[in-house]
Amino acid sequence: MKLTREEIIELLSDPGAGVDLSRRADELRREVHGETVHLRAILEVSNHCRGTCLYCGINCRMTDTERYRMDAEDIRASVERIVAAGFHTVILQAGEDPGLTPEFIAGIVAEIKRNYDVAATLSLGEQPREVYQYWRDAGADRYLLKLETANAELYRKLHPGMSFTNRRRCLDDLFELGYQVGSGNIVGLPDQGPAELAADILDFQDKPYDMIAVGPLIPAAGTPYAELPRPSKELVLRTIALARLAAPEAHIPSPTALCALDPSSRREALEWGANVLMIGFTPPEVARKYRIYQRADCGSTANCLECLREALAEMNRQTGSDKGSGFRNRNRSNNG
Ligand code: SAH
Repeated sequence: MKLTREEIIELLSDPGAGVDLSRRADELRREVHGETVHLRAILEVSNHCRGTCLYCGINCRMTDTERYRMDAEDIRASVERIVAAGFHTVILQAGEDPGLTPEFIAGIVAEIKRNYDVAATLSLGEQPREVYQYWRDAGADRYLLKLETANAELYRKLHPGMSFTNRRRCLDDLFELGYQVGSGNIVGLPDQGPAELAADILDFQDKPYDMIAVGPLIPAAGTPYAELPRPSKELVLRTIALARLAAPEAHIPSPTALCALDPSSRREALEWGANVLMIGFTPPEVARKYRIYQRADCGSTANCLECLREALAEMNRQTGSDKGSGFRNRNRSNNG
């Protein structure tokens, strides 16, 4: 049954609605996705960015941000570590970096697909359709590009000089080119209330996204929003639960940014509808420069993995043994 705007606003706002909401989302997650939690490895290959996203600590105006770009050799070594750790999905993420040429990325993707049986996900921002096509032809299976907010006016305010229409165009192109598509929003943006969040959730309900990433805003030092209060954990969890009700088949991660908000809540999100975990494999010497926000400093990839595996064992949830493709893709021959 489809959610209405009024219902969403009520479920976000009513102080008594939380327990029931988490139960509904958790039951639906179990029914559709079972007890499997898919692990995705994320490699942040560059923090150069031409984007203006005002909330982001690596936007082009952040002149104090020390920039880096991994070379092919370093990316290769990291991908090897990811595969050796038993992961079936590699996500390559970066700022919108013109220095990462379409040819360079296509070469890396083709090499990963040739050498390993893993899904290749890209998260490299807004690109021309031809570039998306070229990367798809090179073997890319999935693309993550969060709409960030479904409210065009709010989008404009937060991304000076960027275009909401172009963001939508990118997502439409990605669908048409046969990618598994991930979108999502940020909870806790300035001037965002229940009505704006409801628009995001209705968008999740309307579009056949394969993945939906809901994450809290972590006000980033040096940005105009550095002093903004963080959203409450409860609001983030409710939004995740509503995303689950809106899109039963979508993969929904327990967002990494939750660790920065409150380390225990990353586990809680798995009980509010989430079924995916992303783990950072960026080499530590550059990961500290990928400061879209100040991250929880609980250490290495190994620590993070250990902490999450412990939590999964306590919850009787298993990690996936396949690529964990989107539902729309399950019957295709290339189950990327
Ligand atoms: N250039 C790529 C990747 C952006 S970084 C792109 O445009 O898609 C990945 C995500 O980090 C963004 O989509 C945004 O939702 C999130 N993000 C950026 N700044 C943030 C902040 N201060 N707090 C929480 N999430 C943030």
